[in-house]
Amino acid sequence: MIIVMKPGASQLAINHVVERIESMNLKSHVIVGTERTVIAAIGDERGKVKEELETADGVDRVLPILAPYKMASRELRERTIVRARDFECGNSKIGVIAGPCSVEGEEQILAIARGVKAAGATALRGGAWKPRTSPYSFQGLKQEGLKMLAAARDATGLAVVTEVMAPEHVPVVAEYADVLQIGARNMQNYLLLQACGETRKPVLLKRGPAATMEEFLLAAEYILDRGNQQVMLCERGIRTFEEHTRFTLPLATVPFLHEKTHLPIVVDPSHGTGKAALVSTMSRAAVAAGADGLILEVHPSPENAWSDGYQTITIEAFGKLMAECRRVAEAIDRTI
Ligand code: PEP
Ligand code: MN
Repeated sequence: MIIVMKPGASQLAINHVVERIESMNLKSHVIVGTERTVIAAIGDERGKVKEELETADGVDRVLPILAPYKMASRELRERTIVRARDFECGNSKIGVIAGPCSVEGEEQILAIARGVKAAGATALRGGAWKPRTSPYSFQGLKQEGLKMLAAARDATGLAVVTEVMAPEHVPVVAEYADVLQIGARNMQNYLLLQACGETRKPVLLKRGPAATMEEFLLAAEYILDRGNQQVMLCERGIRTFEEHTRFTLPLATVPFLHEKTHLPIVVDPSHGTGKAALVSTMSRAAVAAGADGLILEVHPSPENAWSDGYQTITIEAFGKLMAECRRVAEAIDRTI
């Protein structure tokens, strides 16, 4: 349930409500708004007396949270803005994350970082641990790759977004990364979600290719429930009967999720289409649909990329894409 405090309710009154919630064996999350504070009481509410809270000092009203995803629900708050260095996602400026599928070497990542930054990206992507369909494919440079990403950040100021594949890797990835990416294949790896929830690093959670919206939001809930509020949801395409694209990119996800959650929504047209020729158009469409962020695979020579080259665009094409997206963003009163 949500306990809405009266405007100007005292800290003493807020503390009292928190104590009452905890004495009911529920978890409390205090959300301080510009006008008033709301307190979420999360847990098994059966047999809990709502009236006790309603009559407490400073309380305006007590409302149930109807959605199963309590912390992710828009019933709790209007919006969340995720920030990492100059990267912002969830306000009027659209955050752009760009870079190679995999980190391949120090010079490669630095050249890409410089190129995408010049075109307007505010975050650099690059996998150091790679979840590959085949165990014989390149698996990533691991910790060496993380160091290269950190060096590219030092040189450009871009925020680093990189995937963490296992709970035991969270400390080392969090040491180098600004944003922890949870890959599509790991969307329901609950121990990984919880481990990322224990950090205070922003998380980019990718939708599983077969996950429903409710499963996606409940996966985010695992992170939020551990106290990490900086979560972005990423639509990266789902598995359908279609074969003309690698995955099917459902852009209705964006306005739908905006109705259901306060978390910002990022779109990945690279994995969503699996075809470089479609990436630019689908990026513009994602911006038009209201996406708060884009994540794009960019490489100076896609045909020589160590992974996902067929869906990767050149630095030049990325510059053109940014210019086009800028015009779409302007049309809906946003910037990029
Ligand atoms: C990636 O970003 O390179 C990646 C592996 O993405 P996904 O988890 O969406 O397949
Ligand atoms: Mn990839």
